[in-house]
Amino acid sequence: MAEAHPLFDDDGATADARIAPMVRDLIEALGEDPSREGLRRTPQRVASTLRFLLGGYELDLDQVVNGAVYAESYEEMVVVKDIEVYSLCEHHLLPFYGRAHVAYLPRGRILGLSKIPRVVDIYARRLQVQERLTTQVADALHGVLQPHGVAVVIEAAHLCMMMRGVQKQSSAAVTSALTGAYRSDEKSRAEFLSLIGRSSLSAH
Ligand code: ZN
Repeated sequence: MAEAHPLFDDDGATADARIAPMVRDLIEALGEDPSREGLRRTPQRVASTLRFLLGGYELDLDQVVNGAVYAESYEEMVVVKDIEVYSLCEHHLLPFYGRAHVAYLPRGRILGLSKIPRVVDIYARRLQVQERLTTQVADALHGVLQPHGVAVVIEAAHLCMMMRGVQKQSSAAVTSALTGAYRSDEKSRAEFLSLIGRSSLSAH
């Protein structure tokens, strides 16, 4: 079981009871009328939406991976690409979203393929910055599999960039985290990049 997190005590009822009144205050502070029909149930909806979007706090790596690490002599690169990522930027509480590409070079153990997107979700569904998310996914997989290396690339669009300030609507932020052979061996890195259809690790 994951450690208890205040968002999920009591099936979320405790958190909802704290969050909803604050959302009501927020609506009021925004100069709106929280009692009008369209907003009346908004505080409750926002509370339960936040619990869903931040569900990663409730997940535990061992629990997610549980039973899906298999002894296997397969030594070629394993790549799972185009994993949908939805996260919340911790600076603005606005979404960032895009795709993650994850690879590893097995060393005697493989992880059930369907677990890889779930590992991404553990860390994406939190208040995040894209850089830390990328590193956490790489470190988690490296720890679980002790492989020759792990490579993670995340390409994401940030609503806080797109809707405000710089308004660079089409720009995507690209982050990467490499461990082991992907860091030391240019050939492994190049093979990974080619498999995910990129020519480099920088944004383009
Ligand atoms: Zn932001």
